[in-house]
Amino acid sequence: MKVPSELRERLAAIELLVFDVDGVLTPGEITYTDEGAEAKAFDVKDGLGIRVASTAGLKVAVMTGRASRVVERRARDLRIPDVLQRVGDKAAALRKLVEEKGLPLERVAFMGDDLNDREALRLAGVSIAPADAVLEIREQVDLVTEALGGRGAVREAVEAVLRAQGRWESAVAGYLAGLAERDRARRTQ
Ligand SMILES: [Mg+2]
Repeated sequence: MKVPSELRERLAAIELLVFDVDGVLTPGEITYTDEGAEAKAFDVKDGLGIRVASTAGLKVAVMTGRASRVVERRARDLRIPDVLQRVGDKAAALRKLVEEKGLPLERVAFMGDDLNDREALRLAGVSIAPADAVLEIREQVDLVTEALGGRGAVREAVEAVLRAQGRWESAVAGYLAGLAERDRARRTQ
């Protein structure tokens, strides 16, 4: 993915990454079961990317118009503290979130794939969409990933931010060191 130098500067300022769920963290399919539950599929490479981002000190949030327990579960697994579900007005929710965090909007990247993300994407300092976002969104955003939603698009976005900040390698090293530390701690228990 080619990142223009003007955009690299804006990516370098990012401190908070906000991801839509359906079509961004998932391929956008919702599976209904006879038992009344809903299932979604998440990408492990996206998950690792989010862990790398958090380890490097970036804040991560997810924001979705729907509500389901699997989203909470996935967020818990990835230790994402801010999980905003059943959000009708994503732009308003984004404003409120950055206010709570004391961050200017220029320090926020928002990733979305459909029209209900449009206003939040307009607000954010950097707007990102997966390769299979709807055309209107792809035409609007600063960056379109090569990967599809739920298929590595989030990983690509995380990497673009950390690379623009010149700390992708150190972030990965920090993440891997944390894993090794966890093993050591387990052995000495
Ligand atoms: Mg979506």
